[in-house]
Parts: sequence; structure tokens; C-alpha cells
Amino acid sequence: MPTGEKTVYLTFDDGPIPTVTFAILDILKERGIKATFFCVGDNVVKHPEIFCQILEQGHAVGNHTHNHLHGMKTSNADYISNIQKAAQHINSRLFRPPYGLMKGKQYKTIINQYDIIMWDVISCDYDPDISPEKCFQNVVDFVRDGSIITFHDSIKSEKNVLTALPRVIDYLLSQGYSFRKITSQAPLPEKVKKPDEHFKQLQKSTEKIRKSA
Ligand SMILES: [Zn+2]
Repeated sequence: MPTGEKTVYLTFDDGPIPTVTFAILDILKERGIKATFFCVGDNVVKHPEIFCQILEQGHAVGNHTHNHLHGMKTSNADYISNIQKAAQHINSRLFRPPYGLMKGKQYKTIINQYDIIMWDVISCDYDPDISPEKCFQNVVDFVRDGSIITFHDSIKSEKNVLTALPRVIDYLLSQGYSFRKITSQAPLPEKVKKPDEHFKQLQKSTEKIRKSA
């Protein structure tokens, strides 16, 4: 991302899910940092209260398909309709293809509706064979001004992300970096322009959960 200053963008893929996403939100909140969560639509449906908390804490969200589909292994029609299904629950113009892969035709179909956000630094927190220390190194060895850094709020990543993330943030802060969420200047695609009924229901159900807590 062009910044001209020491700014990086933390991103988290595959949530929202209980425990891990909440723990990440706490880590970010303690340090006053905003980030971007690329959510799986199906997880938003299962865990609306966590999704709402991401929004309430001022973070950005993006579409990561409804069922975490691999573009290269999915027909164009199925891939596009899966993105649209997720868009019923995730009000965003940002899109990140799962696995960082999609077919040219799929790309061309959505490029006018979405900002496709990849990354230049990946922690590999999902890899069970690497340590939190290695995750930390994967980020700090390659980070630069404008970097988009990828972690995961998933069960697979739990141990690595929860240990490496605070260290990464504190190290980068000590090096003079600031953190921003990703924003889109372009208008939302027509079909997700307004929060739809389901989205409003999600917010209502969150209020209920909060009141009963
Ligand atoms: Zn993913």
C-alpha cells in the first residue's frame, strides 16, 4: 500500500470464530490498533456476535467467500455466487481470495465491484510445523513501509498467532511503525450498498446476547 510513511496493515483471515478472534480483538484493543478481518460468510452466520464486535471496535471487514472456496478448483459461476452469498452478511468492498488464488475470469468478473487485497508478508501461523518464534521472524524479517501482513483467526493458527502477534505489534511500534485498517475509496457495489435485513438481524441478536450477559 502506498503510504510514504512507516505504516503497516494487519489483516486476519478465516474467522470469525470463538476464542481466537476474541483474543485477537483484545490484543488489538490493548494497543489501540485497527486492523482488517477477511471473514468467511459461513462463520459470520455461525458467530454473529463476534462479527459485530469486530465492527463495533472499529475494524474493517472484507469478504473471503462464504465457504472458503479455492478459485482454481471451483467453477466461475459457483465462485461468484459464493462471494455474493458472503456479501449478504459482510458489507464491504474489500475481497481477498482464499489461498490467494483465483482464475483470471473470476478476477475480471469482480474487479469492478471489489478491491482485491493480497499481502506481501505472511506469518505462516497456520503451519503446525513452525514455532511462534518463526512466525514472528517471518513478519519482522520482511516488513517494510506499506506492508500488508497476514495472520489467521483460526483454530489451526491459535497457538502461533496469539503468541507471535503481540510480539510483532510491540516490535513494530518500537521501530516507529503505525498501524491502519484498509479502507476503500470506491463506492460499494450496488448489491451490498445498504446493510440488508440479515445484517440488521445480526446486530439485533448481538444486542440481545449482550443484554442477557
Ligand atoms: Zn483463508
